[in-house]
Amino acid sequence: MNKLIIEKDKLIQNIEIIKGLSRSKIIAILKANGYGLGLLEFAGILQENGIDFFGVSNIQDAVRLAKNGFKRVLLLTPTNQEDKALLIVKNKVTATVGSLTSAIILNDAALKLNTTADFHLKIDTGFGRFGFLPSEIPQACTLLKGLENIRITGTYSHFSFAFSKKTKAVYSQYNAFIDAVNLMRQSGLQPGMLHICNSSAFLMYPQMHLDASRIGSAFLGRTIVKNTCGLQKIGYLKSTIIECKEIPKNHNIGYANTYKTRRNTKIGIVPVGYLDGFGLEKARDAFRIRDISSYIYRDIMMLNKKMYVTISGKQVRILGKINTHNIIVDITDIDAKVGDEVLLNINPMLVGPHIEREYV
Ligand SMILES: *Cc1c(COP(=O)(O)O)cnc(C)c1O
Repeated sequence: MNKLIIEKDKLIQNIEIIKGLSRSKIIAILKANGYGLGLLEFAGILQENGIDFFGVSNIQDAVRLAKNGFKRVLLLTPTNQEDKALLIVKNKVTATVGSLTSAIILNDAALKLNTTADFHLKIDTGFGRFGFLPSEIPQACTLLKGLENIRITGTYSHFSFAFSKKTKAVYSQYNAFIDAVNLMRQSGLQPGMLHICNSSAFLMYPQMHLDASRIGSAFLGRTIVKNTCGLQKIGYLKSTIIECKEIPKNHNIGYANTYKTRRNTKIGIVPVGYLDGFGLEKARDAFRIRDISSYIYRDIMMLNKKMYVTISGKQVRILGKINTHNIIVDITDIDAKVGDEVLLNINPMLVGPHIEREYV
């Protein structure tokens, strides 16, 4: 049975490092099942360690957190549907408002439930996804001031390209955000808490921390930018060797005939593949400009890129391509047998929900 192992002590150390670096509040982002660590388990550890504000991208996760006693939950996705707005209001989740429609729908839901709903206003400063364009802000403020059942408690935006230092786009988005916030104030709408940084921006642009930062990947030590502050990678997969066999020199291994044995080789088969999220990491790293070529040509690059797993404390190489369900490893030089434990580096976010999580 494969298991995703999550090292709680390292996770707590990462939380402490992030708190130490922060000039303001932290909103822990828990999308994708808490970046694969398990929504409630991860939220619980964060809360025990002083982080009490959470952001999620779907209403189901927001409701789960709320029903399990987590008090401050921001839903990052605005809704234009009445049933979702009612759920938001009933569960006292902080909504995101990014359009006039989403504002009106939220207000109607709060009115129906005879209460007031909190929201954060989202501004699209250049991501091209949710949020008001800066040019729409004056009109939005006029409308929002007239909606009596919703109350603004924060204003935020999201960077599209905060992966390197001195990126012009980061400064222009930041400045557009500050300008829009000033416009809100001039229009008589107080913006509440301000936040714009995700993990990469948080690490690289401390001057942009404002009132809060939205941190996800940094908790796992798996940021797109290199971290020099001691964050450790969280999560590895534990599997076992399910078959061993000897194959001769010059024998093919795997699909597309990309690998030929150079000697008589003892192989071990390990039941971990793409479907478990293994080997997909590079695709995600394609965010980094210099890796885009390796994304497009991932399969070709895989030929050259040696990948390893750990068996009995020793690194052994993966031979041939990663399959849907299996990999083949070279155990010629180690004393390995069926049932031996195999440890694999993997980003927990890519590990499917069919794999059990174990905190150690
Ligand atoms: C995912 C997400 C974050 C967190 O991103 P990380 O880079 O993982 O820290 C912050 N804000 C929004 C709106 C997001 O969607």
